[in-house]
Amino acid sequence: MNHERLSMRLERVAIHIPKGSLLADIGSDHAYLPCYAVTNGLCEGAIAGEVVEGPYQSARKQVAMTGLEEKIEVRKGDGLEVLNPDEATCITICGMGGTLISSILESGKEKLGMAKRLILQPNVGAANVRSWLIENDWELIGEEILEEDGKIYEILIAEKGDPLRPYRVNKQNGIMFGPHLTKEFSDTFIKKWQLEKKHLQRIIEQLDESGRSGLETKRNGLKSQISVIEEVLEG
Ligand code: SAM
Repeated sequence: MNHERLSMRLERVAIHIPKGSLLADIGSDHAYLPCYAVTNGLCEGAIAGEVVEGPYQSARKQVAMTGLEEKIEVRKGDGLEVLNPDEATCITICGMGGTLISSILESGKEKLGMAKRLILQPNVGAANVRSWLIENDWELIGEEILEEDGKIYEILIAEKGDPLRPYRVNKQNGIMFGPHLTKEFSDTFIKKWQLEKKHLQRIIEQLDESGRSGLETKRNGLKSQISVIEEVLEG
C-alpha cells in the first residue's frame, strides 16, 4: 500500500470523501489516505493527526516524499485535539476499534462544529460507533462491508440529520448489524455473521467442557445472541 495505491479498505473510505472537503484523518499512521485524497483531487487540503511518535514521523516522511507539505499538515496529538473547531469538513477515523473511535469522537465533540461528514471504519465494535452517532445527532447515511486479506471491515458514513431515520424497522438490531448492511444483505455480511455465530457457539462449547457451575446466565446470554443472529440471517 502507498499513497497511489491504497488498500481496498481505505480506497472504499476515500470514495465517500465529498469533493472539495477539508479533510482531517485522525490516527493517520503513514498519511496514505490524506496523500491519496489530495493527489486525486478529492480534497483541497488535509490534516493528518497522529498521537504516537513513530507513526507521526512516518506520516511526516510520507507527506514530504510526495511533496504535499503545502496541502497536508501532519499534527501530533490525541484524537480531535489536533483540530481547531472550524477546520475540517470531513473527518475520517479508520483502522481502530469501535470503542476507541467513539471515545475520540466523544472527547473531541466541540471540534466537530464544521464537520459535514464523518467516515468511520471500526475494525471491531461497529455497534459502539452506531450508538455514539445516534446519541449525538449524526445520521448514518450509508455503510459498506468488505473483505480484504481474510478480514472483514465495516465503513460507516454519517452526516448531521435525523439519527433515528435508519433505525425505523428495528433499532436494537440496526445498531448491532447495521441498518443499511442488513437491508443490502451482501455475501460478506452473511459471512461475517455466520462466523460470529460459530465463534459464539465455540464459546458455549468451551463453557460446557469446563464443567464449571454458575455459568447458566452467561450461557443463556450467548444463546440469545445466537438466536438474534439466526433471525437476521434467515431474513
Ligand atoms: N488510519 C490508518 C489506517 O486505517 O490504515 C492507520 C490505522 S492504525 C491501525 C491506527 C493508528 O491510530 C495508529 O497509528 C495509532 O497510533 C493511531 N491512534 C490511536 N489512538 C489515537 C488517538 N487517540 N489519536 C490519534 N491517533 C491515534
